[in-house]
Amino acid sequence: MSFDVDLFVIGAGSGGVRAARFSAGFGARVAVAESRYLGGTCVNVGCVPKKFLVYGAHYSEDYAVASSFGWTSGKPQFDWPTLIANKNREIHRLNNVYRGLLENSGVALYEGHARLLDPHTVEINGQRISAANILIATGGWPQVPDIPGREYATTSNEAFFLKEMPRRVLVIGGGYIAVEFASIFHGLGARTSLLYRGDLFLRGFDQGVREHLKDEFTKKGVDLQFKADIARIDKRLDGSLTATLQDGRVLETDCVFYATGRRPMLDDLGLENVNVALTDKGFVKVDQEYRSSEPSILALGDVIGRVQLTPVALAEGMAVARRLFRPDEYHSVDYQLIPTAVFSLPNIGTVGLSEEQARSAGHQLKIFETRFRPMKLSLGDFHEKTFMKLVVDAVSDKVLGCHMVGPDAGEIIQGIAVALRAGATKRVFDETIGIHPTSAEEFVTLRTPLPA
Ligand code: NDP
Repeated sequence: MSFDVDLFVIGAGSGGVRAARFSAGFGARVAVAESRYLGGTCVNVGCVPKKFLVYGAHYSEDYAVASSFGWTSGKPQFDWPTLIANKNREIHRLNNVYRGLLENSGVALYEGHARLLDPHTVEINGQRISAANILIATGGWPQVPDIPGREYATTSNEAFFLKEMPRRVLVIGGGYIAVEFASIFHGLGARTSLLYRGDLFLRGFDQGVREHLKDEFTKKGVDLQFKADIARIDKRLDGSLTATLQDGRVLETDCVFYATGRRPMLDDLGLENVNVALTDKGFVKVDQEYRSSEPSILALGDVIGRVQLTPVALAEGMAVARRLFRPDEYHSVDYQLIPTAVFSLPNIGTVGLSEEQARSAGHQLKIFETRFRPMKLSLGDFHEKTFMKLVVDAVSDKVLGCHMVGPDAGEIIQGIAVALRAGATKRVFDETIGIHPTSAEEFVTLRTPLPA
């Protein structure tokens, strides 16, 4: 049977574009459908604009630090519309970069909503296209709990386009997006509360990291409310909102920002026409080679719900392209030791096992920790501290995990991740010469383990 294309990709986000471009580069005939924006969540309503807003938010502290180095200027003023307009301009440029990448690699781009008609046919803009393989790379979508007034909630999809900066914000959730946006809103001047339903945010991260970020947020004046959750949201005549908590308290605010996880985006995809099984959480179920239960249909990225990170989707996209069109070069994605950063203020960077994970995996451990004031803050009356931690196997001396909270944590941990992948022991860390004076050198000068 002959098909119009060898691969039809639904979704031009990080993973979909990577799979499409590399497949085309391997000689396949490839088409991509995108109904919203080229580059997907990461480029449009995720990593990229988030980082611009985090940079913007940090200036409130940078101005204060600059004065400790002798710089003075008028009272700093922040203008939200300027930041959003400049961010939008840059994102627009990146959308066009993605368009160019697809066009230059010979991928046919269809802008519209694609639906599956059968295991080998997609319909888009009234046109039917047959494909030997179809890749679902439709990503995720913010999930807001079903509470009265949920229509008044703001999610990361809308927050990047707010016309005005809210004066007061309630951030709901305790994951990546919640702590990043709490930092953004607080840094840009909003009175910010973070409400998390559990005892301490960032479940799954090393306890030391979680405690340290809690302390830093508290010092900065972010109002942290743990064991708190919203029962309903109401809008008042003046446009402001009230949030009634489950414990009966009522909080007034201008914005209720929900960051309570993301669901797979499978709306109106025509899944009823194919035999694609879903996991109990509704993600597309795939095997080790990203095949769904329908042999011609594959899936990757956030829609499979494994690790919702852009670089992971990119690796999965490469793997899919190779498996389909360069099987000799195929190797599976290794999900161990994925480094990650949370762009809260201060940043978190982490790779490998947390102390808790390492203990429950049965390792005997040596733990090395340090807390110190970053050098840049030592000329003024600043109290932010950096936290660094190594989790080391006491028997093999292997470094199992490396965690940091402090400026540029992501930049530092990226390099450390290479060492951990190479199987570095604590001795290798000790024998590495530091770069002085940096914060990163602390990772190679930690001498004394915490008492066991
Ligand atoms: P996460 O899954 O990281 O966190 C969701 C948070 O919401 C958790 O604290 C969870 O609590 C809480 N929650 C879930 N359901 C409810 C509910 N019904 N009521 C109250 N609280 C609830 O999701 P995010 O939305 O923060 O981010 C989605 C994913 O995007 C991340 O997991 C990450 O993979 C990716 N991401 C990565 C970034 C980066 O690399 N810097 C930045 C942003 C996102 P509990 O812990 O109790 O389950």
